[in-house]
Amino acid sequence: MSRTFRLAAAAVAVATLGASATAGVATAQHNAQRGSDQREIRNVIYLLGDGMGRTHVTAARERYYGADGKLVMETMPHVGQNRTYSIEPNSGQPGEPDFVPNYVTDSASAATAWTTGQKTYNAALAVDGKGKSHATVMELAKKAGYRTGNVSTAEITDATPAGQMSHVLMRGCQGPEYSAKACQNTEVTGTELPTTDLRVTPVADQIARNNTADVIMGGGLSRFDAADEKALKDNGYTVLGSPAAQRVATEADMNRVKTSRRGPQKKVFALYNKGNLTIEKSKRENPTAPGAKEPTVAEMTRKSIELLDSKKGKKGFYLQVEGALIDKRSHANDAAQTLEETKAFDEAVRVALDFAKRDKHTLVIVTADHECAGFNIIEKGTYTNAEAATPPANVDSGNPANNSVPSRAKGSALDPKRSSGIINGAGKDDAANFGPATFRTPDDAAGVADGTPEASLWLSYLSGNHTGADVPVYGYGPGSSKVSGSIENTDLFGIVGQALGVVR
Ligand SMILES: [Zn+2]
Repeated sequence: MSRTFRLAAAAVAVATLGASATAGVATAQHNAQRGSDQREIRNVIYLLGDGMGRTHVTAARERYYGADGKLVMETMPHVGQNRTYSIEPNSGQPGEPDFVPNYVTDSASAATAWTTGQKTYNAALAVDGKGKSHATVMELAKKAGYRTGNVSTAEITDATPAGQMSHVLMRGCQGPEYSAKACQNTEVTGTELPTTDLRVTPVADQIARNNTADVIMGGGLSRFDAADEKALKDNGYTVLGSPAAQRVATEADMNRVKTSRRGPQKKVFALYNKGNLTIEKSKRENPTAPGAKEPTVAEMTRKSIELLDSKKGKKGFYLQVEGALIDKRSHANDAAQTLEETKAFDEAVRVALDFAKRDKHTLVIVTADHECAGFNIIEKGTYTNAEAATPPANVDSGNPANNSVPSRAKGSALDPKRSSGIINGAGKDDAANFGPATFRTPDDAAGVADGTPEASLWLSYLSGNHTGADVPVYGYGPGSSKVSGSIENTDLFGIVGQALGVVR
């Protein structure tokens, strides 16, 4: 949590609840005593697009809805921006004397920020920069009696979902087997920890045994084994597919799970792929392949809400939903699928918002963990500096008022060895390929096709890795005004935790 947020939160707690207020205070009472947009909050749905930066949102909007259109997430009334930097191993928190920032985060430290309120080093899950475990907001919600759900299109042991349901020193410690190489981090702990220590226990083992989420949906079946299946069943889960048999669940299996009108609802564990879920393009083009039997992120979200929203009048639910393939396709510099997966994620936002509008007591937050690959919308017919035969020189370096060159140096040309020109999604095959991808939009004349010079949306990537840009954050429903302005990713722990009444 940022210093300013911590102070503000403390002030609110003292002013309205008194010094004796504790975590887990009743939601109704808690919200009744707070400010303006505070109808009682029963549920929180927290959705994030992995790697979804500002330009991902803009480009997906232009691609699918045109220049003056809106993605569903852009119809949400409150908008802010979220700072994503992480810290180095053994660093203190911001404001502490031994604080050492790392300007570019990974998904693990970003998840830890909003699940625990702690900045941490890249690769750490729900432990701080010095390796100390912190309770996650999903664990606190579960303890306070909320129903909880965790949905991802990645492996469910991957950083974003794992950051709510496990505590490990290294995100590679996913399971099913323990290995010192994947799990230990002596840079932080000094010596190797005993294998009985939770922080070196594979994520899959933790998820199968700790009951943190009532509904678990995503990929990653190969991380789980027969012992995990037994543990899940002993804990009362309906297991779709079978970890023991390595048989994946299907959308049809999911749809057969009946929801109860009176509750208690089922706990459901459903992994639809041994690895990450399949991109929408592959499902569309291979309708008889196994991947086509997977649900979309929107369908998983709809079913999870149905399973979690059970008993009226009692505690509500907390659901996290990740659209993970935006990041995976951005790493591959695959613009076409980056945009299609952003749209697929936006359809999950639609499901959440439709529910929240009917329910009136649900806070919906949409954000990202970081930007991926320096996605850019470039002028039609142009190319990037990285593709130039001669990189532009700084011809104005003697001018103290202007130490950069605003446009490409005269005479510089496109280097055919470094750019193959217009591509749509094939860029990953050539490390030297910077060629822009072009897409038609609803603003283009009929007959203009993707991948042609006539298409109006020209996109390019800066790198194949994460960048340090701030990411957007949107809010809808009671309590959502708090996502306005410039916030730290750690502030989201307090915003969600306070909405649920589990964090002061
Ligand atoms: Zn990534």
